[in-house]
Amino acid sequence: MTGFSTKAIHGVNLTGKSDRKDVHGSLRMPVYDNVAFEYESSRDLQLAFEGRLNTHSYSRISNPTVEEFEQRVCLLADARGVIAVSSGMAAIANVLIMLAESGSNIVTTRFLFGNTLSLMVKTLKEWGLETRFVDMNDPVSIEQACDSKTRAVFLEVITNPQLEVADVKKITEIAHSRRIPVIVDGTLTTPYIFKSRDFGADIEIISSTKYISGGATTMGGVIIDNGLFDWSLCPKLEEDSKKYGHFSLLVKLKREVFRNLGSCLSPHNAYLQTLGLETLSLRIDKNCANALEVAQFLERHPVVKSVQYPGLKSSRFHKIAVAQFKEKFGGLLTFELGNRDECFRFMDNLHIVRRATNLNDNKTLVLHPASTIFCEFTEEQKKEMAVSDSMVRIAVGIEDPEDIIGDINQALEAI
Ligand code: PLP
Repeated sequence: MTGFSTKAIHGVNLTGKSDRKDVHGSLRMPVYDNVAFEYESSRDLQLAFEGRLNTHSYSRISNPTVEEFEQRVCLLADARGVIAVSSGMAAIANVLIMLAESGSNIVTTRFLFGNTLSLMVKTLKEWGLETRFVDMNDPVSIEQACDSKTRAVFLEVITNPQLEVADVKKITEIAHSRRIPVIVDGTLTTPYIFKSRDFGADIEIISSTKYISGGATTMGGVIIDNGLFDWSLCPKLEEDSKKYGHFSLLVKLKREVFRNLGSCLSPHNAYLQTLGLETLSLRIDKNCANALEVAQFLERHPVVKSVQYPGLKSSRFHKIAVAQFKEKFGGLLTFELGNRDECFRFMDNLHIVRRATNLNDNKTLVLHPASTIFCEFTEEQKKEMAVSDSMVRIAVGIEDPEDIIGDINQALEAI
């Protein structure tokens, strides 16, 4: 069986026989940085609009460079299909708008990326979506929250920034017994660390801005249909599934929600993200090894009150993390100092580690979540989200680990 890196590098052309070879034989899919595609006849143009001709007509809907990226992700995820979008948030918004309607609900947790939570409890709430919060590590609370109006269970595979890990298989079993699909946000893992299909997740969304783009070159996101859910069970897809069967989610997204929301990935970004995919495994290996070293160093440091990283044996989630991810636990970690002032002083003393948001960049980045990503929430809400004022988040990069640790050490000494 072909390995992850070979697939990431060669894509669907593994046989050397592509049905869509570049006219000049370019070894890399060129950037088709254009809007419209021409047709020989009006009839063909009509067929393209009706979706009966497998071609491109307009880059907001599909584009060859973007399609190449989608096919590579699809191959790596072993999925039914993939739609690339302009950002991770666009991926989440598209999927929620696709599955849920006014008066329905989503079962999730408060342990989510701040903007995802904001999308649910502010933006989509105003359109009539209810968000129900549970503890993803408490199966009973998930069971109790689901009802006939639940359109999906949504969770992050590793939560940002709490670093919690839930048993995805168990959650999908609970949801599926109620005919509810499960959406996972695999931004911190990607299919290299965690192949969500193998754990029963129906849809995976990823912010490809992070690990995949490789060095934070571009914004992007992907929606992956793992091909496990019978979409005729989803009220908004009941009708479409009569016509499109298992492909109804992808078709309805492509021909309606994704198209109408205009959330397309630009061809140039798709090109850079395809390039990023080719080195994904190398970067993740180095990134995870670095993060574990940094976490172990912080755990030993007397000034540090506690460290959250699923790769640490002391983590409450280590056992389930090992079961799901084997020996790679991602590049994100958080730790606690005495208070906000100490966090700021620590951060301001760093030289190599950069004060910036984002994660899985090649560079190591530091952030104070409570005063940045979560600043729009009240103190009470931040408490519920376990985002404390004394928490520092480090998104470890792929520099030499002794330099990252040296910099963190001197900044800790300075406080
Ligand atoms: N999901 C997670 C877990 C994230 O950390 C982020 C961004 O940090 C997103 C989604 C949103 O991704 P993007 O910034 O590409 O919209």
